[in-house]
Amino acid sequence: MPARIFFSLLITLVVGLFSGRGHADVSQGPNDPGRPEAVLVVHGGAGDLSRMMLTPFERNAYRSALEEALLAGYARLQNGDAALDAVQAAIIVLEDSPYFNAGRGAVFNSAGDIELDAAIMDGRSKEAGAVAIVQGVRNPILLARAVKEKSGHVMLAGKGARRFAKRQGFDLVGERYFRTDRQWRAYKRAKKARNGGVTNSNLSRDSDEQRLTWRERKYGTVGAIARDRYGNLAAGGSTGGSFFKRPGRIGDTPIVGAGVYADNATCAVAGTGEGEFFIRLSLAYQICSETARIGLVQSAEKAVLKDLASLNAKGGVIALAPVGPPAAIFNTKAMFRGVINDQGSVSIHIFADEDTSDNGL
Ligand code: ASP
Repeated sequence: MPARIFFSLLITLVVGLFSGRGHADVSQGPNDPGRPEAVLVVHGGAGDLSRMMLTPFERNAYRSALEEALLAGYARLQNGDAALDAVQAAIIVLEDSPYFNAGRGAVFNSAGDIELDAAIMDGRSKEAGAVAIVQGVRNPILLARAVKEKSGHVMLAGKGARRFAKRQGFDLVGERYFRTDRQWRAYKRAKKARNGGVTNSNLSRDSDEQRLTWRERKYGTVGAIARDRYGNLAAGGSTGGSFFKRPGRIGDTPIVGAGVYADNATCAVAGTGEGEFFIRLSLAYQICSETARIGLVQSAEKAVLKDLASLNAKGGVIALAPVGPPAAIFNTKAMFRGVINDQGSVSIHIFADEDTSDNGL
């Protein structure tokens, strides 16, 4: 072998060894120019929340939980794991936090029970798993993933989902685990109001009750979408559903195409808001199907600001295409949302009128 070729091979080998390549995929190392930009976006619900309705303590608590979720998912992306794993890791953190309407901290239904919905979808294969009205499962997103990978079905609900969880070795927990004082008080007051014939509109007259009204109307579902360094997309969501819902009610979150959707060829979406309308509009699927034609932001705006709004419905979405920055579009005053980019820089926003020039969310 000529010395020139030998030395050039040697240099390539040495540079390769020290550049950190080869961890997950030698052909697409973290520093390859032209590889897809990894990104993870989370949301923690939307609602007509004004600044005075959130104490500084609460604001910090929401922000830290969102940040923790972003960092958990980012660690997976940095490790070379799939977008699906990042979405799952982020949602587990939000389900474990008592601040969101998912897992611990979920809302009560009108019978005083907690029934949880969740879904996860992989944009590589369009495989999806979902659970609905499930009880006693600490992290419904993990059960949704197990449904996707081990049940041969897409969705399991109620007792069947619980039985499947047991078979899969999930530790089931009592309702006490999910119950927070905040949600229990809200339930008690709503029950009292219903029994006394008080409606939401006259509840909102005094300021204390107004806070409660917001809490009831805050669509505190959690969701995440991600793009990994190989360009794969994924989406997931988890929720206690709508406050004081009828027992057995299933919202949009576990319905593929309504509350979540992911397809590598088009986009990934996770929504939050009045689930009945997301279902009627096939909102998440609609956004992805229109993305190729009119662009991600335009498609999400059309779905949320036009279609959802024309039915007088409230809510929002986070959305991400195979290339380019993510979007967060909502027609409420606030949406808890955050993003972490490929370089690990985190940005979190709550209100619609915040300066989001740092990340466009
Ligand atoms: N979309 C959820 C549902 O209707 C509620 C939410 O977003 O908070 O179940």
